[in-house]
Amino acid sequence: MEIFDRREFDGHELVVFGHDSASSLRAIIAIHSTALGPAAGGCRMWPYATTGEAVADVLRLSRGMSYKNAMAELPFGGGKAVIIGDSRKAKSAELLQAFGRLVDSLSGRYITAEDVGTTTADMANVARATRFVSGLGAAPGQAGGDPGPKTALGVHLGIKAAVKFRLGRSDLKGIRIAIQGLGGVGHHLCGLLAAEGAELFVADVRPAAVHKACEQFKAHPVAVQEVLGLDVDVLAPCALGGVLDAQSIPRLRARVVAGAANNQLAQGQDGNALQAAGILYAPDYVINAGGIISVAREYHRAGSEAQVIADIQAIPARLTEIFERARRENRTTNEVADEMARERLARRPRALVA
Ligand code: NAD
Repeated sequence: MEIFDRREFDGHELVVFGHDSASSLRAIIAIHSTALGPAAGGCRMWPYATTGEAVADVLRLSRGMSYKNAMAELPFGGGKAVIIGDSRKAKSAELLQAFGRLVDSLSGRYITAEDVGTTTADMANVARATRFVSGLGAAPGQAGGDPGPKTALGVHLGIKAAVKFRLGRSDLKGIRIAIQGLGGVGHHLCGLLAAEGAELFVADVRPAAVHKACEQFKAHPVAVQEVLGLDVDVLAPCALGGVLDAQSIPRLRARVVAGAANNQLAQGQDGNALQAAGILYAPDYVINAGGIISVAREYHRAGSEAQVIADIQAIPARLTEIFERARRENRTTNEVADEMARERLARRPRALVA
């Protein structure tokens, strides 16, 4: 497998392959950049069909973390980890501790946390083998704990900013929103949107998750195959990446795409197709930074939950700046965001003040 020449490699500082035969751990840690601080990003557990697929995913996610942390003005570089395996079948305390030892062997160059397929409880197991872990839990009022609800809050505020910019509406009453994926972030997001009177259309591969959202938030159930092409105002992808591509974009009828999933665009150029179709795209790593903002303050023991929320409230202004610059310069929002992130990566890091 050729790694250095892959498009996703993009100047990564370090890629580590870890194996532990006792627990059957097979993991990859990718560190894209430590220019702004230790590389921070979650650990995904996923049954990748091939190692090549896992490498491509970890590299894309890791670079995304560099850009996300830079845009959120956190004193962190970008990194990510993947554990190859089915989290419902292959996860064990031994495996998580072996992963913790792998993280520890990097002596703090990489800080881990939960992601798809891993939980706050899993991170407690990882923490038995390393102190370079966050997203563990927090005392009442202190920063930290499950990042999902914090990500949902940022996405909620980001949707409002996008709706204001594209549809000229300051509230969400009657706004039709399709949510793809009702996990830790998507379910929470439904609650926040429903509380503001949005009409929700929800899809998930887990029927129980759809049922729960319909019961709790009077959402309308939608088939997994149909959610992307629904006639709605906003599409919020909150499942996995790569959902916006040459096949799906011509089917979209939403005027705003704003959701939590990482790497929503299959390729950068898919942003051009969205722009040509008049669809406003909220760059994923800008709108979904709420979780890492919480993880950062928890890790540095730098403040309270109220400060986390105040930091998250900066997300809509950041998005509006991107939307305005993209309109002024007739460029895509993802291009503008990437450029801003690279500018910030070149600046001095900012410390978190409690
Ligand atoms: P999760 O694993 O809890 O939820 C994902 C949900 O998507 C699950 O309910 C799953 O059944 C569903 N799903 C999977 N494939 C689907 C499909 N084809 N159609 C519809 N539903 C499908 O993950 P999460 O923590 O809610 O994160 C959601 C997304 O947001 C992920 O891409 C994640 O990387 C990203 N993200 C999460 C956070 C966070 O704080 N948790 C932060 C930033 C980004």
